[in-house]
Amino acid sequence: MKVPYIKDRPDLSQHQLVFDTIDYLNKYNKKDDPNREVKLIPYIFSNPNALYYFNNKKAPSGEIMTRNYSENAAVKQLGLPDAIPDNYLDLFNDALQPFFDELDKNFTNGLIYLKRYDHHSTYSYLREVFLLKVLPSKKPQDYDIIISAMEEQELGTGVFRHYSFVSTVIEIHTFSDPNYDISWNTIDKGMQRLPNAFLPMIKKENINLKYNSEVYKLEKRNDGKIEVFWKNNGNMVSEIFDRVIVAVPLGVVRHWDLPLTLSYGKRSAIREMDYVLPEKIFLQFKSRFWEKPPSETGANPTTSDVGIVGGSSFTDLTIRTIVYPSYYVNISADKPGILLVSYSWSRDALVFGQFSEEERFELALKDLATIHGKENNKAKYWPADRTVGGSAYAYYGVGQIETLLGAMMRPEESIHWCGEHTDIHFGWTVGALNSAIRVVREILLDNLMSDKWFEFKNSRLLKYWNGNLEAFEDH
Ligand SMILES: Cc1cc2nc3c(=O)[nH]c(=O)nc-3n(C[C@H](O)[C@H](O)[C@H](O)COP(=O)(O)OP(=O)(O)OC[C@H]3O[C@@H](n4cnc5c(N)ncnc54)[C@H](O)[C@@H]3O)c2cc1C
Repeated sequence: MKVPYIKDRPDLSQHQLVFDTIDYLNKYNKKDDPNREVKLIPYIFSNPNALYYFNNKKAPSGEIMTRNYSENAAVKQLGLPDAIPDNYLDLFNDALQPFFDELDKNFTNGLIYLKRYDHHSTYSYLREVFLLKVLPSKKPQDYDIIISAMEEQELGTGVFRHYSFVSTVIEIHTFSDPNYDISWNTIDKGMQRLPNAFLPMIKKENINLKYNSEVYKLEKRNDGKIEVFWKNNGNMVSEIFDRVIVAVPLGVVRHWDLPLTLSYGKRSAIREMDYVLPEKIFLQFKSRFWEKPPSETGANPTTSDVGIVGGSSFTDLTIRTIVYPSYYVNISADKPGILLVSYSWSRDALVFGQFSEEERFELALKDLATIHGKENNKAKYWPADRTVGGSAYAYYGVGQIETLLGAMMRPEESIHWCGEHTDIHFGWTVGALNSAIRVVREILLDNLMSDKWFEFKNSRLLKYWNGNLEAFEDH
């Protein structure tokens, strides 16, 4: 896991609330629970020596191409059809650039401007609006070939045809705003340390945290309160609350019994909102052979003959992306290491669905050997996780940002909705945090405690928070 930032520009960093929350928690825990410190370390996001293996193509010398090498190769050399212009990836950036510029001028206004295109999939926007204008002499079927090649490189199989153009612009802008130099951090010893750092505060405030408690029903009572039902070790338990905050993925909520009085908009949002299903396969190796030059280890020769520390290799083989760890800097490459051999999402992830964990390891190793020529375990497949319910993180479909996101945010029947899927920065930790702040605001304002809200809003923690609420009239 990684979090991007723009150096020295917290005002422009969409993820600033993550860093400010870490800072806040570290200060809170410093005296009594220093072992809870969340330590940020650099994350190596891109690496010119990482590899590029598509269409079974190697360099004319027979070496596996590095990403750096592939960027300077003609599309023909990369095994792509003649209909695709050499600058096809630049064209993709050109299509999105005006929207990035608007978002950078003012994110909320940029979002309002962008939402005008919410009736477009990324595919239809590129085909009917953009390519027609910039490549008017191409045959209609050429547009399809060009868009498929863009999709394969940029976001993964089927993503452009299925999800909305607005989602794609927001996802890429949130990921790595091309107008700025992006740096990356990750959390030393894993992202789980972030939620764990809240525990001392929860304990101090005497909040009753219940683990292994699977909620399955919310019932509205005559007195307006909400009864929450859950299962704990096979026992059915319930308790009554004045207000309830739901922060659970919608694939799980879809199975719950909910108050019958929830609005049509809310019920539609819960049922319809699109999600992405990712897949990750980790394998442990006795030594980190990928960090050494291939000529030293006997791995497949590459056009740079340089070892790979951090960054990602890309391929059209089923593993799609190999992510090289950033965690072992200054540790000898002869020591063991864990490699994220396959990271993919959407249709690319589904191809692993029918296989057992052992079979997924075998398949991943086969592809890895094709690229690295070396072999030597853990697979995480989100659709099979019951706490996710087939909905690992949101990625809105055509028309859904305009019609569903506002409805999803809106509190109804003393039930408030948060989680990454209820924020415009869906799919990111910052989306979950943003939405939590929005819900605190809702509850304080509902209880006529606007003074408390403004006090909170003016605190250091919220200096750069922006819920972009004006973009959602529905809210
Ligand atoms: C593969 C992958 C890679 C990612 N990479 C990044 C990244 O690099 N950077 C980044 O910032 N973000 C990343 N994210 C996104 C980030 O992890 C999420 O946005 C964030 O965790 C969402 O937080 P949340 O609180 O909304 O939901 P979750 O973290 O999903 O929390 C939902 C909670 O609900 C609980 N729950 C489920 N069912 C029930 C039930 N019936 N009753 C009670 N509780 C229930 C679950 O146990 C869980 O604790 C990634 C996500 C995935 C899946």
